[in-house]
Amino acid sequence: MPQNDGRCGWYETLPAPLPAQTLQGEVTADWVVLGAGLAGLAAARRLAELQPHASIVLVDARRVGFGAAGRNSGFIIDLPHDLNSHSYTSDKSKDRNVIQLNRGAIEYLRHLVTTHAIQCDWREQGKIHGAVEPHGIYALEMFAKGLSALNEPYRELGSSAMKAITGTDFYLAGLHAPGAVLVQPAALVRGLAATLPENVRLFEDTPVRSIGIGKPHILVTERGQIKAPRMVLANNAYAAQFGQLGFRSRLLPVYTYGSLTRPLSPVEKTELGGEDSWGLIPADPMGTTVRRMGDGRICIRNSFTFDPKLHVSEGRLKEVRAAHQRSFARRFPMLPGVDFEYTWGGALCLTRNGGTPFGEIAPGVYSAVCQNGLGLARGTISGKLIAEYALGFESELLSIMLEQAKPACNPPEPFLGLGVRSTLAWKARQAGKEL
Ligand SMILES: Cc1cc2nc3c(=O)[nH]c(=O)nc-3n(C[C@H](O)[C@H](O)[C@H](O)COP(=O)(O)OP(=O)(O)OC[C@H]3O[C@@H](n4cnc5c(N)ncnc54)[C@H](O)[C@@H]3O)c2cc1C
Repeated sequence: MPQNDGRCGWYETLPAPLPAQTLQGEVTADWVVLGAGLAGLAAARRLAELQPHASIVLVDARRVGFGAAGRNSGFIIDLPHDLNSHSYTSDKSKDRNVIQLNRGAIEYLRHLVTTHAIQCDWREQGKIHGAVEPHGIYALEMFAKGLSALNEPYRELGSSAMKAITGTDFYLAGLHAPGAVLVQPAALVRGLAATLPENVRLFEDTPVRSIGIGKPHILVTERGQIKAPRMVLANNAYAAQFGQLGFRSRLLPVYTYGSLTRPLSPVEKTELGGEDSWGLIPADPMGTTVRRMGDGRICIRNSFTFDPKLHVSEGRLKEVRAAHQRSFARRFPMLPGVDFEYTWGGALCLTRNGGTPFGEIAPGVYSAVCQNGLGLARGTISGKLIAEYALGFESELLSIMLEQAKPACNPPEPFLGLGVRSTLAWKARQAGKEL
C-alpha cells in the first residue's frame, strides 16, 4: 500500500483538501479505474468523455496528489528522456514516436488546465539541461546532436548564460529545450480530480486489498467492494502487489527523492540573482534536478534506490536529506542558511528494457501501468489512450502506443536486487559532481 514516505512539499504547501469520500458498502459500475495518479485520472476522464452515460468508479488508496503523481519534480517533458541513455535519446524513429506521445499528453493537459482554470503554476518555459563535469558536457553535445537530427529546436548555453539564469556559476554548460512545461504537480492532479466529469465517482483513502478477476471483476476494500465488468489498472509500481496479474516479474520499483526549501528572503534572492523561475535537468541522468519556483523556494531531486517493498525508512530519508543538503550547498554557496522544509520519497515504476505493459492483459482488464519514470506526460497519455483502446477507437497515437516494447522479464532474486543496486551505486559514482 502507498505509505507516508516523508512529507512532500508540493502536497503540504497546498491548502488542506476537503474531506475524502471513502467507499462504504458495495458499489457497481460499468468501469472501475484503480489508482488516481496521472494515468488513472486521464483514463477515468476519457472513458467518461467518450461514454457519458456509463458509470465509472475511480479509486485510490490515498488522497489525490499524495502519491507519486504529486511527488514528482513537475517537468512535463516532450522530448525523449531515456534514463538509460547518456544523451537521453535513442534511435530517431523511436524518439519521434516518443515526442508525438508526449506532445499528445501536453496538448490534452493544456486543454484541461485552460478549460477548467486549474491553478497549478502551469509554465510553458521549457527546461534547461545543466552540465558540470566533462562527461556531462559530452552528454549535452550528444543530446544536441540528437535534437538536430530530429529537427527539434534548442539553444546552447555557456557558463555565463547559465549563471544569468540560475544565479550560480556551478554549471559549465547548458542547453535550453523549449517544449517542456513546468507545473506544481500536486496542484495539477488535485485540479484534474476536482474537474472530473459527473459520471466519474472518486473514492479516496480507499485501499484495494484484493482483486478477483471475473465477470464482474471484484475489488475488495477495507469497508466495501466494487464490482465492474471492465477495469483499468493505473496503480503504477503497486501493480506488482496483485500477483495474479503477472506484473511482479516485470516491474522495477525504484525510489527517487525530493526536498523543498523554505521561500528565500528578499535579501537571499538578491544574493542569488538569476531568474525567478527555472527548471534544470542534469546532463547525467543520475545527477540532480533543480527547480526554482516563482514563490522563491528551491526544489532538489536526486538519489535512486531499489525498494520492492515500496516503503522507505526514516533513516533512508535522513541520508537522502543530507545528500540533498550537500548538492544544494555545492550549487548555492551564497545561501548558507537555507534549509529544507520538506523531504520525501516516491516510487517510480521502471522496466529493464523501458517497455510498457500497455493493453488488455486479461479479458476486460486493461493496463496503463508503468511510465518508466516520466509519468506526467507518459502517464497522462497512457491513461487517455487505454480508454480509447478499450472502447475500440483507432488513432495514430494509439498505434504508436501499441507498438512500444513490452516489458522484459526480470531475473529472479537475489540476482535482481544485487544487479539493480550495484548498477545504481556504480552510476551514482560515475555521476561525480553532477550529483
Ligand atoms: C521525486 C520524484 C520526481 C519525479 N519527477 C518527475 C518529473 O519531473 N516528470 C515526470 O514526468 N515524472 C516524474 N516522476 C515520475 C512520476 O511521478 C511518475 O511516473 C507518475 O506519477 C506515474 O503516474 P501514474 O499515474 O502511472 O502512477 P502514480 O502517480 O504512482 O499513481 C498510482 C496511484 O495508485 C494508487 N494505488 C496504488 N496501490 C493502490 C491500491 N492497492 N488501492 C488503491 N489505490 C492504489 C496510489 O495511491 C497512486 O495514487 C518523479 C517521481 C518522483 C518520485
